[in-house]
Amino acid sequence: MKKKNHIPEIETRPQEEIRAYQDERLKEMLAYIAKHSTYYSRVFNNFGVDVGSIRGIDDLPLLPVTTKDELQKYNDEFICVPREKVIDMITTSGTLGDPVTFAMTDKDLDRLAYNEYLSLSCAGADERDTFQLMTTIDRRFMAGLAYFLGARKMGAGIIRVGNGMPELQWDTIRRLKPTAFIVVPSFLLKLIEFAEQNGIDYRNTGVGKAVCIGETLRKPDFSYTTLAKKILDKWDIELYSTYASTEMSTAFTECEHAVGGHQHPELIIVEFLDDNNQPVAEHEAGEVTITTLGVEGMPLLRFKTGDICYHYTEACQCGRTTTRLGPVIGRKKQMIKFKGTTLYPPALFDILENIEGIQNYVVEVYTNELGTDEIRIRVGSEQQGDDFAARMKDRFRAKLRVAPAIVFDSPENIEKIRFPEENRKAVNFIDMRKM
Ligand SMILES: [Zn+2]
Repeated sequence: MKKKNHIPEIETRPQEEIRAYQDERLKEMLAYIAKHSTYYSRVFNNFGVDVGSIRGIDDLPLLPVTTKDELQKYNDEFICVPREKVIDMITTSGTLGDPVTFAMTDKDLDRLAYNEYLSLSCAGADERDTFQLMTTIDRRFMAGLAYFLGARKMGAGIIRVGNGMPELQWDTIRRLKPTAFIVVPSFLLKLIEFAEQNGIDYRNTGVGKAVCIGETLRKPDFSYTTLAKKILDKWDIELYSTYASTEMSTAFTECEHAVGGHQHPELIIVEFLDDNNQPVAEHEAGEVTITTLGVEGMPLLRFKTGDICYHYTEACQCGRTTTRLGPVIGRKKQMIKFKGTTLYPPALFDILENIEGIQNYVVEVYTNELGTDEIRIRVGSEQQGDDFAARMKDRFRAKLRVAPAIVFDSPENIEKIRFPEENRKAVNFIDMRKM
């Protein structure tokens, strides 16, 4: 008998009840940061905010937002506990150069474990599962540690292989027989490639699912991205998207119905905001803005993640009634307003990945003489010419209603643009717009 997924009571209550619950938790959170955070107590003073007058979530727009720049500039002032209470220290890349440090207390590590337990439960896992962890657990990252703690809390097994190393991954699969992966999905393609080259029967491994981090498996309409399709064409494995960040210390993971990542109301409040920091309606794209609940070391109020999503509030077939986040459409900073259409680079990438004959590409966006955004796609291909360019443009028009300019080049030249200097990560998007 399959054990029922763990769902906390609050996640199945009517939305009004969840809201009332979060109203109370928000008041506790505000009292805590007003008392313990040098940064927030100063900002509340400057803005003349009396946190005692905040009645709940509906009053959030009365409070200031927190940006990545502020997090970096005033990093130490965000930390609410003395150094001796800090256990784990994590860094994330900052916006202005230096990394941002996150301080986690003993209680925060328990919270992180609980979060990941809920997240892995969303992906249908239970204590009979054994996860093969294919992400980094050290290097000052949060994610790998969170998965380890979550699996432990669940009572599931976990094998910490780390990232890369296809041979060691396959050796582990053969010897230790995991039932699930925690992985960056494009690495699954590398695993398949390695298996094909080495005669490994990868379709019969006993691994049923992959919890996928860092890359999007679904488009905003929930259909699979090209990446997900490439994996599923070869390997019949359940793929679960999860959306998380160090700042949130919380994951939004989709359930088997795959209609967005579920919010955990005990851990996080989420708003979806427009350019003026006002809430957008359901079915409108908004910037994911979060307020952490139950965080002791470095709680954040109305933190603007920079990610743009749709959100959904109707109950899910899994029984959860919590708000769900759709796939990330793109980064707010990378938003392109092109010929009256708003779009984000991932939508362009997905079309390009699907066109036969393209070996590599770079999307460039720049400001034209009218002061508006223009898109130029540099395509590396053996097959060049007007016919091919016209077919490409048709594909763009069919999907996005607009077609960017296409410039052909040799795949070698494009590769040079994609890997500038010491950059180990490929660059597919170059923003040359005037600010
Ligand atoms: Zn669900």
